[in-house]
Parts: sequence; structure tokens; C-alpha cells
Amino acid sequence: MQFENTLGFSQSLDKEDRLSKYREQFHFPKVKGKQVIYFTGNSLGLQPKNAPSFVNDIMEDWANLAVEGHFHAEKPWWDYHERLAKPMAKVVGAREEEVCVMNTLTVNLHLLMVSFYRPQGKRTKIICEEKAFPSDQYMLQSQVRHHGLDPDETLVEIKKREGEHFWRTEDVLSKIEEVGDELALVLIGGVNYYNGQVFDMEAITKAGKKVGAYVGWDLAHAAGNIELQLHDWGVDFAAWCSYKYMNSGPGNASGIFIHQTHLKNQEIPRFEGWWGTKKETRFLMKPEFEPTGTADSWQLSNPPVLSLAPYLASLEMFEEVGMAALIEKRNRIVSYLEFILKEIDKETTGSFEIITPEDRGCQLSVFLHGQGRQLFDYLMENGVITDWREPNVIRLAPAPFYCSYEDMYRFGQILKEGILKN
Ligand SMILES: *Cc1c(COP(=O)(O)O)cnc(C)c1O
Repeated sequence: MQFENTLGFSQSLDKEDRLSKYREQFHFPKVKGKQVIYFTGNSLGLQPKNAPSFVNDIMEDWANLAVEGHFHAEKPWWDYHERLAKPMAKVVGAREEEVCVMNTLTVNLHLLMVSFYRPQGKRTKIICEEKAFPSDQYMLQSQVRHHGLDPDETLVEIKKREGEHFWRTEDVLSKIEEVGDELALVLIGGVNYYNGQVFDMEAITKAGKKVGAYVGWDLAHAAGNIELQLHDWGVDFAAWCSYKYMNSGPGNASGIFIHQTHLKNQEIPRFEGWWGTKKETRFLMKPEFEPTGTADSWQLSNPPVLSLAPYLASLEMFEEVGMAALIEKRNRIVSYLEFILKEIDKETTGSFEIITPEDRGCQLSVFLHGQGRQLFDYLMENGVITDWREPNVIRLAPAPFYCSYEDMYRFGQILKEGILKN
């Protein structure tokens, strides 16, 4: 399709957009009385308007039923998390039993490391990407030290090539081959938070397993953004947070995936708690741990229903719309944003550069030449919410659930003014 950088054209794309009605179902912040252009759905998704009613249901059940709410609320609390597993499994391409919603992301990564990082003999090394998200780096370093190993020798970082802004799949694959029988684990962010790159998870998973390692993915920037087929790709484990593209609310619960082949494998250790035991016998309070045989076996505590409630509200929207429709709109709106950026770049003679590679999801990362923070501040003051990453990058993620094509056009106009003024 031939795009045009005009208000009328952007509005015609909105008219054709089957998802345009969902915009009304989210709360947008306002700047100077006007709804903002929201590009940070990759950091904190907007609030679905029906989320408070899901929370209120629980507050009312608590008031009216107190402890009886565990079993007699309309949506009983003791197995509330199961309501999330089914729609969640569809979002990540998993079987329902392979998925559990629990804890928060970094906590879950640590718990999964207990199961899937057990260095033995010379098989101790972990492959990750250079400059991984800081929490992942701290998690990996502390896990390695916990096993009495040295992070500098044990963590093998895949580097970008000199002068390039992305990782090459061939470089990941050849590093896996090279580390070979010393490789215990591959753990990479499926979509990189900084440049928005989508890794070839299928190929990397296959290569890692071929040399006898486990392969896990941090899907913080992938869940609800890109197509995932965790089961079919043979991924060993994965975890993600829900407050980015999944719109569940600040700091909210994480999800985990554990491949079916590991669910009943008694040789895989884990840290355990009472919500990992069989429902039928849980309240007999016996000393023996009887695992559920599903990803729930990794669950420690009874579910934090007040935080799962807005997550469930959001997942019901994902269930209704489906990832296929979201991805179709995502492709188009990101292409339109890219087109707008290129038009503005021409008019402002090379003031920035898109560093996100072709393999991308919702996010375009833009490297600013010359102007920096002032331009970012100008955008924020004029109702464009983006984020700033050192040294000179703004990240733009037009979440397909609630961003419009008109937003992209208007953003382009504000960007141009900002560049010319600064
Ligand atoms: C957002 C993000 C996190 C955040 O971790 P929390 O434990 O939820 O605070 C971790 N890793 C990656 C890759 C992220 O993008």
C-alpha cells in the first residue's frame, strides 16, 4: 500500500481498522486537556476501562464473604489463577497446562533457574545477549555466583558486530556451536528492550538443544506483541511480565511457561510451596508434596487475586481479539509510523535514524543525531509519551490495541516542529 503523510489518509486507515473500537475501552492520560499519543505500551500498557470492576468484585466478595470467598465467591479465589492460564496459553502458543501466572518476572526467572540451571562438570556456561535488560543481568550474575562460579568466565555474551545496531542470528548460532558441550543454558530476551529486535527463537532454541543445553526466553517485550509458538518450538521454559503489552497494571504478575516434556520429570528440581500440590489433596495438609503435574507445580503461594483481577480483565480482551488480528494491525501501524518517520527525516535532513532491524514487533527505536533530551522534553510537553534511553534513543511502540493511525500522523507533525525548534 502507498502511504501518505496527511491527516485525511491517516483517518482513512482508522476507518478501515477493525480494532479501532478498542481505543475507547482504555483510559488515556491527558496533557493540556488533550488525550496523549501513547508510545510506551512497551513499558506500561494503558488501563482497560473495565479493570476496576474486576478488582471491585474481589473487594466486595471479601467484604461480604470474607474467608468463604476462597471457595464461594462467584470467581473463587483459590483457583482464580486458572482463569488466566487458558487465554494466556493462547497468547504465547502453549498448552494450558504449560502456563502459570504467578509472582513477578525476576522472581520467576530465579525460580526457573533453580530447575534449568544446574551446572555440572564442564557444562556450566550460559549464553545471553550483551547489554541484556539489567534485571536479567543481575539475576544471571547472582545465580552463577550462587553456584560458586565466576560470572566473567561463565556468562558468554553475544555481541553485535562493530558498527551494527542488531544481533545476527548466525552469530548466536555459531556461538552456541562453539561453546558446545560446555553450554548449560541459553537465556535471551525474545524481543530486545532497547532496539526492538525479535530474535529467531525457533532456530536458536533448536541449536541450543542440539548441543545438549536448556533454552529459556525472557518474553517481557514479546508477550502480547509478537507471535509465539513456545510449545511447537520446543522451548524449555520462559517467563514474562504482564504490565507491558499485556496491560495488566503496574508491577503486576508474571507468567511462566514450562514445556510439557518437563512437567512430570522428577529429575528436574524446583523450589516448592503448597499451591504447587494437587488441588484434591491440598487441604489435607499432608507433609508430602504431591505435584499437580502442570506448570502450577512451580507455584508457591495462594494467588494474589487483587492483582490478578485487572490482568484477567485484560486477558479477556486478548481472548476476544486474538493475537492474529493484533499482529495484523501492529504490522500496518508500525509500517505507517516508519513511513512517517522517514518523511519527517527527509524534511529535516537526516536528524535521526531508525535502529530497529527488519525482524521487529511493535517497537521502533530511533537514534537522534544532534538534538537529544530537549527534543524528548518537547515531545512530552506536547502530549507525546515516549521514553528515553541513554545515550540518545527514543523508543516508539504504537500498541495496536489502542493506538490510532491518526496518532502516527499527529506525532510526525509534532516531531517535525520539535526538530525545527531545537
Ligand atoms: C521489563 C523487564 C523486566 C522487569 O522485571 P520485573 O521483575 O517485572 O521488574 C525484566 N526483564 C526484561 C527483559 C524486561 O523487559
